[in-house]
Amino acid sequence: MFSSKVLPLLCCPTDHAALEFRHATTPNVNPEQMAWSRVGGDALMCTQCATVYTIRDGYAELLPRAEYEHTTLYAEDEGGHILDYRDLGRPLLSAQVKNNLLNEFLRFEKNDVVLDLGCGNGKFAYWNRDKVATMLAADLAPWFADRARAELPLLRADLRALPVRAATLDKVFSIDVLEHLTRDDIARVLDETRRVLKPGGRFFVFSNTREKQTLAPLMAPQQAVTRWLSKRGAVDFTRDDWRKSDHVKAIRTYEELRAMFEGHGFVVKRVAFWNGVLQGWIENVFMKLGENYLSQKARGENKLEQQVRARSNVRAAMQTTRGGKYIVPLEIASKVMQLDITLFGNLRAGPYFVLVEKQ
Ligand SMILES: [Zn+2]
Repeated sequence: MFSSKVLPLLCCPTDHAALEFRHATTPNVNPEQMAWSRVGGDALMCTQCATVYTIRDGYAELLPRAEYEHTTLYAEDEGGHILDYRDLGRPLLSAQVKNNLLNEFLRFEKNDVVLDLGCGNGKFAYWNRDKVATMLAADLAPWFADRARAELPLLRADLRALPVRAATLDKVFSIDVLEHLTRDDIARVLDETRRVLKPGGRFFVFSNTREKQTLAPLMAPQQAVTRWLSKRGAVDFTRDDWRKSDHVKAIRTYEELRAMFEGHGFVVKRVAFWNGVLQGWIENVFMKLGENYLSQKARGENKLEQQVRARSNVRAAMQTTRGGKYIVPLEIASKVMQLDITLFGNLRAGPYFVLVEKQ
Protein backbone atom coordinates (compact mmCIF):
# COMPACT_ATOMS: atom_id res chain seq x y z
CA MET A 1 0.00 0.00 0.00
CA PHE A 2 1.44 3.33 -0.95
CA SER A 3 1.41 5.65 2.06
CA SER A 4 2.03 9.39 2.21
CA LYS A 5 4.34 8.70 5.18
CA VAL A 6 7.15 7.91 2.72
CA LEU A 7 6.68 11.21 0.85
CA PRO A 8 9.64 12.93 2.56
CA LEU A 9 11.89 10.27 1.01
CA LEU A 10 10.62 10.78 -2.53
CA CYS A 11 11.11 13.32 -5.29
CA CYS A 12 10.29 13.86 -8.94
CA PRO A 13 12.45 11.41 -10.93
CA THR A 14 12.98 14.01 -13.67
CA ASP A 15 13.98 17.16 -11.74
CA HIS A 16 14.36 15.87 -8.13
CA ALA A 17 11.88 18.48 -6.83
CA ALA A 18 9.55 17.70 -3.90
CA LEU A 19 6.25 15.89 -4.45
CA GLU A 20 2.87 16.78 -3.03
CA PHE A 21 0.26 14.23 -2.08
CA ARG A 22 -3.15 14.82 -3.64
CA HIS A 23 -6.28 12.99 -2.67
CA ALA A 24 -8.74 12.29 -5.43
CA THR A 25 -11.00 14.81 -3.73
CA THR A 26 -8.49 17.71 -3.61
CA PRO A 27 -10.16 20.54 -5.55
CA ASN A 28 -8.40 21.72 -8.65
CA VAL A 29 -7.79 25.40 -7.87
CA ASN A 30 -4.89 26.21 -10.15
CA PRO A 31 -5.56 26.29 -13.91
CA GLU A 32 -1.92 25.36 -14.51
CA GLN A 33 -2.68 22.05 -12.89
CA MET A 34 -5.13 21.03 -15.57
CA ALA A 35 -3.40 17.71 -15.91
CA TRP A 36 -4.66 17.03 -12.43
CA SER A 37 -8.33 16.94 -13.30
CA ARG A 38 -7.76 14.03 -15.66
CA VAL A 39 -6.57 11.85 -12.83
CA GLY A 40 -9.22 9.79 -11.10
CA GLY A 41 -7.62 8.56 -7.87
CA ASP A 42 -4.94 9.67 -5.42
CA ALA A 43 -1.73 10.94 -6.94
CA LEU A 44 1.56 12.73 -6.32
CA MET A 45 2.39 15.97 -8.05
CA CYS A 46 5.79 17.51 -8.68
CA THR A 47 5.97 20.96 -7.09
CA GLN A 48 8.27 22.12 -9.90
CA CYS A 49 7.27 20.56 -13.24
CA ALA A 50 3.67 19.76 -12.16
CA THR A 51 3.89 16.23 -13.51
CA VAL A 52 1.16 14.09 -11.98
CA TYR A 53 2.20 10.63 -10.80
CA THR A 54 -0.73 8.31 -10.28
CA ILE A 55 -1.14 5.95 -7.37
CA ARG A 56 -3.01 2.77 -8.27
CA ASP A 57 -3.27 -0.92 -7.45
CA GLY A 58 -1.11 -0.33 -4.36
CA TYR A 59 1.84 1.39 -6.02
CA ALA A 60 2.95 4.87 -7.12
CA GLU A 61 3.82 5.23 -10.77
CA LEU A 62 6.98 7.38 -10.70
CA LEU A 63 8.58 6.92 -14.10
CA PRO A 64 10.82 9.74 -15.39
CA ARG A 65 10.00 11.70 -18.53
CA ALA A 66 13.27 10.69 -20.18
CA GLU A 67 13.14 7.45 -22.12
CA TYR A 68 16.16 5.21 -22.16
CA GLU A 69 17.25 3.04 -25.03
CA HIS A 70 17.60 -0.29 -23.31
CA THR A 71 14.67 -1.83 -21.56
CA THR A 72 13.87 -5.23 -20.13
CA LEU A 73 11.53 -8.00 -21.22
CA TYR A 74 10.02 -7.82 -17.78
CA ALA A 75 8.50 -4.43 -18.51
CA GLU A 76 6.48 -5.86 -21.38
CA ASP A 77 3.08 -7.46 -20.98
CA GLU A 78 4.46 -10.90 -21.63
CA GLY A 79 6.27 -10.72 -18.30
CA GLY A 80 3.01 -10.68 -16.37
CA HIS A 81 1.84 -13.90 -18.02
CA ILE A 82 5.02 -15.88 -17.77
CA LEU A 83 6.21 -14.87 -14.30
CA ASP A 84 4.67 -16.57 -11.33
CA TYR A 85 4.48 -13.34 -9.34
CA ARG A 86 1.08 -13.01 -7.64
CA ASP A 87 1.63 -15.18 -4.54
CA LEU A 88 4.39 -14.84 -2.02
CA GLY A 89 5.55 -17.93 -0.21
CA ARG A 90 8.23 -18.24 2.42
CA PRO A 91 11.93 -17.99 1.45
CA LEU A 92 12.94 -21.40 0.11
CA LEU A 93 15.71 -22.85 -2.07
CA SER A 94 17.66 -20.15 -3.99
CA ALA A 95 15.49 -17.45 -2.50
CA GLN A 96 16.35 -18.64 1.01
CA VAL A 97 20.07 -18.67 0.24
CA LYS A 98 19.87 -15.14 -1.21
CA ASN A 99 17.79 -13.93 1.73
CA ASN A 100 20.28 -15.41 4.21
CA LEU A 101 23.22 -13.73 2.50
CA LEU A 102 21.29 -10.45 2.27
CA ASN A 103 20.76 -10.52 6.04
CA GLU A 104 24.26 -11.69 6.87
CA PHE A 105 25.90 -9.01 4.71
CA LEU A 106 23.56 -6.04 5.14
CA ARG A 107 22.53 -6.55 8.81
CA PHE A 108 19.22 -4.70 8.95
CA GLU A 109 18.66 -2.45 11.97
CA LYS A 110 15.45 -1.05 13.50
CA ASN A 111 16.03 2.54 12.33
CA ASP A 112 17.11 1.70 8.80
CA VAL A 113 15.51 3.24 5.75
CA VAL A 114 16.00 0.70 2.99
CA LEU A 115 15.30 0.35 -0.74
CA ASP A 116 14.90 -2.89 -2.66
CA LEU A 117 16.24 -1.81 -6.06
CA GLY A 118 14.61 -3.86 -8.81
CA CYS A 119 12.32 -5.67 -6.39
CA GLY A 120 10.49 -7.89 -8.90
CA ASN A 121 7.36 -9.10 -7.12
CA GLY A 122 8.70 -7.59 -3.88
CA LYS A 123 9.44 -10.82 -2.01
CA PHE A 124 12.76 -9.83 -0.41
CA ALA A 125 11.37 -6.46 0.67
CA TYR A 126 8.29 -8.20 2.08
CA TRP A 127 10.21 -10.86 4.02
CA ASN A 128 12.45 -8.23 5.67
CA ARG A 129 9.98 -5.36 6.10
CA ASP A 130 9.54 -5.74 9.87
CA LYS A 131 13.28 -5.56 10.59
CA VAL A 132 13.59 -1.92 9.53
CA ALA A 133 11.86 1.45 9.94
CA THR A 134 10.95 1.85 6.26
CA MET A 135 11.26 -0.62 3.40
CA LEU A 136 10.74 0.91 -0.05
CA ALA A 137 10.62 -1.35 -3.09
CA ALA A 138 11.03 -0.19 -6.68
CA ASP A 139 10.81 -1.88 -10.06
CA LEU A 140 10.34 -0.87 -13.68
CA ALA A 141 7.75 -3.60 -14.23
CA PRO A 142 4.58 -3.59 -12.11
CA TRP A 143 4.51 -7.35 -11.45
CA PHE A 144 4.15 -6.96 -7.70
CA ALA A 145 2.77 -9.72 -5.49
CA ASP A 146 -0.61 -9.15 -3.86
CA ARG A 147 0.81 -9.12 -0.33
CA ALA A 148 3.53 -6.67 -1.36
CA ARG A 149 0.83 -4.37 -2.82
CA ALA A 150 -1.08 -4.59 0.44
CA GLU A 151 1.83 -3.91 2.79
CA LEU A 152 4.78 -2.20 1.10
CA PRO A 153 5.25 1.32 -0.25
CA LEU A 154 5.84 0.20 -3.85
CA LEU A 155 7.28 2.44 -6.53
CA ARG A 156 7.16 1.79 -10.23
CA ALA A 157 10.42 3.46 -11.13
CA ASP A 158 13.28 3.44 -13.59
CA LEU A 159 16.41 2.44 -11.66
CA ARG A 160 18.41 4.85 -13.83
CA ALA A 161 16.40 7.82 -12.54
CA LEU A 162 15.15 7.03 -9.07
CA PRO A 163 12.30 9.05 -7.53
CA VAL A 164 14.20 9.11 -4.23
CA ARG A 165 15.79 12.15 -2.54
CA ALA A 166 19.56 12.39 -2.19
CA ALA A 167 21.21 10.94 0.93
CA THR A 168 18.02 9.55 2.51
CA LEU A 169 18.70 5.80 2.61
CA ASP A 170 20.82 3.73 4.99
CA LYS A 171 20.84 0.58 2.88
CA VAL A 172 20.00 -0.53 -0.62
CA PHE A 173 19.87 -4.03 -2.03
CA SER A 174 19.53 -5.38 -5.53
CA ILE A 175 18.97 -9.07 -6.21
CA ASP A 176 18.99 -10.58 -9.73
CA VAL A 177 19.05 -7.18 -11.44
CA LEU A 178 22.48 -6.07 -12.70
CA GLU A 179 22.80 -9.01 -15.11
CA HIS A 180 19.85 -7.55 -17.05
CA LEU A 181 21.55 -4.16 -17.60
CA THR A 182 24.04 -2.82 -20.14
CA ARG A 183 27.32 -1.33 -18.93
CA ASP A 184 26.04 2.23 -19.39
CA ASP A 185 22.92 1.42 -17.41
CA ILE A 186 24.88 -0.24 -14.59
CA ALA A 187 26.93 2.96 -14.40
CA ARG A 188 23.71 5.02 -14.16
CA VAL A 189 22.25 2.70 -11.52
CA LEU A 190 25.45 2.92 -9.43
CA ASP A 191 25.40 6.73 -9.67
CA GLU A 192 21.76 6.79 -8.63
CA THR A 193 22.37 4.36 -5.75
CA ARG A 194 25.26 6.51 -4.57
CA ARG A 195 23.10 9.63 -4.77
CA VAL A 196 20.27 8.20 -2.64
CA LEU A 197 22.49 6.57 0.01
CA LYS A 198 23.66 8.45 3.08
CA PRO A 199 27.45 8.77 3.46
CA GLY A 200 28.68 5.37 4.67
CA GLY A 201 25.46 3.79 3.41
CA ARG A 202 25.68 0.19 2.26
CA PHE A 203 24.64 -1.56 -0.93
CA PHE A 204 24.19 -5.33 -1.28
CA VAL A 205 24.14 -6.94 -4.71
CA PHE A 206 23.49 -10.45 -5.96
CA SER A 207 24.21 -10.86 -9.66
CA ASN A 208 26.39 -12.67 -12.20
CA THR A 209 29.55 -12.05 -14.14
CA ARG A 210 30.52 -14.23 -17.11
CA GLU A 211 33.22 -16.01 -15.11
CA LYS A 212 33.33 -19.78 -15.16
CA GLN A 213 32.68 -21.50 -11.82
CA THR A 214 35.89 -22.83 -10.27
CA LEU A 215 34.01 -26.03 -9.54
CA ALA A 216 32.55 -26.36 -13.05
CA PRO A 217 34.05 -29.87 -13.47
CA LEU A 218 32.10 -31.01 -10.40
CA MET A 219 28.93 -29.67 -11.96
CA ALA A 220 29.30 -31.56 -15.25
CA PRO A 221 27.49 -34.77 -14.14
CA GLN A 222 24.46 -32.79 -12.97
CA GLN A 223 24.39 -30.83 -16.23
CA ALA A 224 24.52 -34.07 -18.24
CA VAL A 225 21.61 -35.51 -16.23
CA THR A 226 19.64 -32.28 -16.67
CA ARG A 227 20.17 -32.34 -20.46
CA TRP A 228 19.11 -35.98 -20.63
CA LEU A 229 15.93 -35.35 -18.60
CA SER A 230 15.20 -32.24 -20.63
CA LYS A 231 15.40 -34.16 -23.93
CA ARG A 232 12.98 -36.75 -22.57
CA GLY A 233 10.56 -34.01 -21.53
CA ALA A 234 10.84 -34.96 -17.85
CA VAL A 235 11.93 -31.44 -16.85
CA ASP A 236 11.02 -28.11 -18.41
CA PHE A 237 13.06 -24.90 -18.45
CA THR A 238 10.79 -22.67 -20.56
CA ARG A 239 10.32 -20.10 -17.82
CA ASP A 240 14.00 -20.17 -16.82
CA ASP A 241 15.04 -19.78 -20.46
CA TRP A 242 12.69 -16.84 -20.92
CA ARG A 243 14.24 -15.16 -17.89
CA LYS A 244 17.78 -15.84 -19.10
CA SER A 245 16.97 -14.52 -22.57
CA ASP A 246 16.87 -11.08 -20.91
CA HIS A 247 20.40 -11.46 -19.50
CA VAL A 248 23.06 -9.09 -20.79
CA LYS A 249 25.83 -9.94 -18.30
CA ALA A 250 27.74 -6.84 -19.31
CA ILE A 251 30.37 -7.33 -16.61
CA ARG A 252 32.77 -10.14 -17.50
CA THR A 253 34.85 -10.67 -14.38
CA TYR A 254 34.91 -9.89 -10.69
CA GLU A 255 37.88 -7.54 -11.26
CA GLU A 256 35.78 -5.56 -13.72
CA LEU A 257 32.93 -5.44 -11.22
CA ARG A 258 35.18 -4.24 -8.44
CA ALA A 259 36.69 -1.55 -10.69
CA MET A 260 33.19 -0.44 -11.65
CA PHE A 261 32.15 -0.02 -7.99
CA GLU A 262 35.37 1.83 -7.15
CA GLY A 263 34.95 4.08 -10.19
CA HIS A 264 31.51 5.09 -8.86
CA GLY A 265 32.52 5.93 -5.31
CA PHE A 266 32.01 2.59 -3.55
CA VAL A 267 34.45 0.40 -1.70
CA VAL A 268 33.99 -3.38 -1.54
CA LYS A 269 33.56 -4.64 2.05
CA ARG A 270 32.72 -8.28 1.51
CA VAL A 271 32.18 -10.82 -1.25
CA ALA A 272 31.09 -14.47 -1.64
CA PHE A 273 30.73 -16.53 -4.79
CA TRP A 274 28.17 -19.20 -5.58
CA ASN A 275 29.42 -22.38 -7.16
CA GLY A 276 26.09 -24.13 -7.62
CA VAL A 277 27.32 -27.68 -7.06
CA LEU A 278 24.53 -28.78 -4.71
CA GLN A 279 22.19 -26.07 -5.96
CA GLY A 280 22.25 -27.56 -9.50
CA TRP A 281 21.19 -31.03 -8.31
CA ILE A 282 18.44 -29.67 -6.13
CA GLU A 283 16.93 -27.00 -8.38
CA ASN A 284 17.63 -28.33 -11.88
CA VAL A 285 17.05 -32.00 -11.21
CA PHE A 286 14.98 -32.85 -8.11
CA MET A 287 12.76 -29.75 -7.98
CA LYS A 288 12.19 -29.79 -11.74
CA LEU A 289 11.16 -33.45 -11.59
CA GLY A 290 8.78 -32.61 -8.77
CA GLU A 291 7.38 -29.62 -10.64
CA ASN A 292 6.85 -31.76 -13.71
CA TYR A 293 5.02 -34.42 -11.71
CA LEU A 294 2.75 -31.88 -9.98
CA SER A 295 2.17 -29.89 -13.19
CA GLN A 296 0.79 -32.91 -14.98
CA LYS A 297 -1.86 -33.17 -12.30
CA ALA A 298 -2.62 -29.43 -12.25
CA ARG A 299 -5.25 -27.66 -14.31
CA GLY A 300 -4.25 -25.15 -16.97
CA GLU A 301 -4.55 -24.36 -20.67
CA ASN A 302 -0.90 -25.14 -21.35
CA LYS A 303 2.28 -26.33 -19.69
CA LEU A 304 3.19 -22.89 -18.34
CA GLU A 305 -0.19 -22.36 -16.72
CA GLN A 306 -0.01 -25.85 -15.24
CA GLN A 307 3.43 -25.07 -13.78
CA VAL A 308 2.26 -21.81 -12.25
CA ARG A 309 -0.83 -23.59 -10.88
CA ALA A 310 1.26 -26.44 -9.45
CA ARG A 311 3.60 -24.01 -7.71
CA SER A 312 0.74 -22.03 -6.28
CA ASN A 313 -0.97 -25.27 -5.11
CA VAL A 314 2.20 -26.18 -3.21
CA ARG A 315 2.38 -22.71 -1.64
CA ALA A 316 -1.29 -22.95 -0.64
CA ALA A 317 -0.76 -26.42 0.87
CA MET A 318 2.15 -25.06 2.91
CA GLN A 319 -0.26 -22.69 4.67
CA THR A 320 -2.33 -25.62 5.93
CA THR A 321 -1.64 -28.24 8.59
CA ARG A 322 -0.75 -30.71 5.84
CA GLY A 323 1.99 -28.34 4.68
CA GLY A 324 4.73 -30.23 6.46
CA LYS A 325 5.06 -32.77 3.69
CA TYR A 326 6.36 -29.95 1.46
CA ILE A 327 7.94 -27.65 4.03
CA VAL A 328 10.25 -30.18 5.67
CA PRO A 329 11.94 -31.46 2.49
CA LEU A 330 12.13 -27.95 1.00
CA GLU A 331 13.69 -26.56 4.18
CA ILE A 332 16.25 -29.39 4.18
CA ALA A 333 17.00 -28.83 0.49
CA SER A 334 17.48 -25.10 1.20
CA LYS A 335 19.97 -25.84 3.99
CA VAL A 336 21.87 -28.21 1.71
CA MET A 337 22.02 -25.49 -0.97
CA GLN A 338 23.42 -23.06 1.58
CA LEU A 339 26.42 -25.41 1.92
CA ASP A 340 27.56 -24.28 -1.55
CA ILE A 341 28.31 -20.89 0.01
CA THR A 342 29.59 -22.15 3.36
CA LEU A 343 32.02 -24.59 1.74
CA PHE A 344 32.94 -22.94 -1.55
CA GLY A 345 32.09 -19.24 -1.07
CA ASN A 346 35.73 -18.22 -1.50
CA LEU A 347 36.14 -19.98 -4.85
CA ARG A 348 35.52 -17.73 -7.82
CA ALA A 349 32.31 -18.19 -9.78
CA GLY A 350 29.99 -16.11 -11.99
CA PRO A 351 27.23 -15.64 -9.39
CA TYR A 352 28.38 -13.32 -6.60
CA PHE A 353 27.11 -11.65 -3.43
CA VAL A 354 28.84 -8.38 -2.71
CA LEU A 355 28.56 -5.68 -0.07
CA VAL A 356 29.88 -2.21 -0.91
CA GLU A 357 29.94 1.04 1.04
CA LYS A 358 29.47 4.61 -0.19
CA GLN A 359 32.71 6.55 0.32
ZN1 LIG B 1 9.28 17.42 -11.64
